[in-house]
This record gives sequence, C-alpha cells and structure tokens, in this order.
Amino acid sequence: PFDVLIVGGGPAGAAAAVYAARKGIRTGIASERFGGQVLDTLGIENFVSIKETEGPKFALALEEHVRHYDVEIMNLQRAKALKPGRQMIEVELENGAALKARSVILSTGARWRKLGVPGEEQYRNKGVAYCPHCDGPLFKGKRVAVVGGGNSGVEAAIDLAGIVQHVTLIEFGEQLRADAVLQSKLASLPNVKTILNAQTTEVTGDGQKVNGLVYKDRASGEEHRVELEGVFVQIGLVPNTEWLKGTLELSRHGEIVVDAKGQTSVPGVFAAGDATTVPFKQIIIAAGDGAKAALGAFDHLIRSSVP
Ligand code: FAD
Repeated sequence: PFDVLIVGGGPAGAAAAVYAARKGIRTGIASERFGGQVLDTLGIENFVSIKETEGPKFALALEEHVRHYDVEIMNLQRAKALKPGRQMIEVELENGAALKARSVILSTGARWRKLGVPGEEQYRNKGVAYCPHCDGPLFKGKRVAVVGGGNSGVEAAIDLAGIVQHVTLIEFGEQLRADAVLQSKLASLPNVKTILNAQTTEVTGDGQKVNGLVYKDRASGEEHRVELEGVFVQIGLVPNTEWLKGTLELSRHGEIVVDAKGQTSVPGVFAAGDATTVPFKQIIIAAGDGAKAALGAFDHLIRSSVP
C-alpha cells in the first residue's frame, strides 16, 4: 500500500507528489491526464519565476520534477470511487484495480463549462478564453465579450474593462445574477455594455482568429452580431468531483470542502487545487495547495497509530 496516494496529476497533484516523496514515504500518483488543465493552456505568464512559458512545456516540467523522485506514476488512470476505511483508504479505478493507501490526496481539478456553440472549439486559444486573470492582458486595447452574468462573469467584465478597449457582457437571463455591489460597479464603467436575455449562438472568425459573436435576442428571436476580438466564457467552473458524491463533504458547487491543512471531512483524506473550496483557481495557487495537502497528509501519518 501507499503511504500517500494522489489522485490527479495537475499542478496540485504534482506538487503534492514532490513534497510527499521528499519525506521518504511511499508515494503514488494516479491521473487521467498527467499535466491537467495546463495541457490545454497556450501561454503561461503568471507563474512567478517563469516569465513566460507554454502549457505543454510546463506540464512536461511538472512530470520531470515528479519523476526525479521515487514516485509511482500511474498515468491514464481514472478513479471512480473512494472507499474510506479505518486504517486503509481504497481508491477504485475505472480499469477495475483498487489502490490502497494510508492517506489520499484528491487533486482532480476542474473544467470550464463550455458554451457548446459553433466556433467555440475552433477558436479556443485563438480568441476564445476562459480565464481573465490568465488571458486578459492578451486583449489589451481590443474588444471582447464576456458570456455569463453571474459573479464570475461580472467580475471578469470589471477586470477586463480596465485592460481592454470595450467589453460586451452577455447574460442569458433577464437579469444579472451577480452580487449587487458588483453590478453597481459594472454599471459605473463607461466601456462596458450589458445585453440581457441573450443567447450566444455562435463565435465567428476568419479561420485564424475570432472576429465576432452572434447572439439571439430571446424576446424577439432576432439574431445580432457583435464585432470583437475576444470572447471570455464565464458560465461556470465545474470541479471533477462527481465520483466523490456521498463519500465526503462537498460544497453546493461540488467543491471538496477542506480546512487550512487541506484535510477533508474524511480522516486521512486531503484535497488540493481547483477541485476544492480554496478560492481563486490558478496554477500557482493549486501548486502551493498541493504542497500544503502533502504536508497535511504527512502530519496525519506521523500522528496515526499504524506504523
Ligand atoms: P487540474 O490542472 O485540473 O488537474 C487535474 C488532474 O486530475 C488532471 O491530471 C486530470 O486528468 C486528473 N483527474 C480528473 N479527474 C480524475 C479522476 N476521476 N481520476 C484520476 N484523475 C483525474 N492558471 C494560471 O495560473 N495561469 C494561466 O495562464 C492559466 N491559463 C489557463 C488556461 C486554460 C485554457 C485553462 C483551462 C486553465 C488555465 N489556468 C491558468 C488555470 C490552471 O490551469 C488551473 O488552476 C490549474 O491547472 C489547477 O490545477 P489542479 O492540479 O488543481 O487541477
């Protein structure tokens, strides 16, 4: 059995693996896709000490760092169930195998909810973006739309309004769903236009990059086109925790509830990164969080009675 078994091989899982392995304890990491979301990221410019890199390059560096230590890496393995026990915790994989461990770190990350309209996939990273903290500066002086009028959409619109030339905020419902304080801040900005009751139907482009967005006025049924260079999709970040439902405490958004040491509601089970209630979903935060969960798990192990 493992002393620490990590499920998920993104920045959080990789950092947890390095920290656990450096304690000289038996460490394993099982992940569906080693690297996680950074594999889908074009440029990374906000991981301090690395001025500029590319997602796949960063993912490779994560893997190299983990491989430098004695860590059992199980790639292309999807976990389907967590079975807590008094001394051993079991993680069941889709392939039927069951892994046993004295402590488990869950770092299965999250995924952005997609619009599911034509052009979204085609122009992803070519004008279609999901993370204003990451990609906002790429649109300096340009026109963008933010799709989604909840807290994250309105926050994104406010954030982007300070960087880009113009923001069109598009909300499906008849009203914005963000907190009142955010809505009034938004209303005070001269370069933001809000369109309500609008269903985004297409992201258009010239074959290379985005040049517009088409939406349907849900009241009249009429279609309109907005010319712009970027579309930020802000309709929700979904944690990859469906497989944990009923086993440990999740927030109403499905995030794993953790304390300051990354401990979940189940003893011996820790969690880190985008899959958890830790705010602000970023690489550097996930990595720090993974380190913290590994130290939390180590702390747990040296206090538990099993030798
Ligand atoms: P993830 O990176 O999501 O990794 C999760 C891991 O768990 C993966 O290995 C996955 O395969 C695995 N997994 C999931 N479910 C299971 C399962 N059931 N069983 C086994 N394994 C499973 N952040 C920045 O700081 N800067 C940026 O520039 C930036 N740009 C971004 C651009 C894009 C397009 C996207 C999508 C995100 C971007 N982010 C950026 C956010 C950043 O990528 C995430 O915050 C970070 O990757 C979270 O790390 P994580 O380890 O918690 O989760």
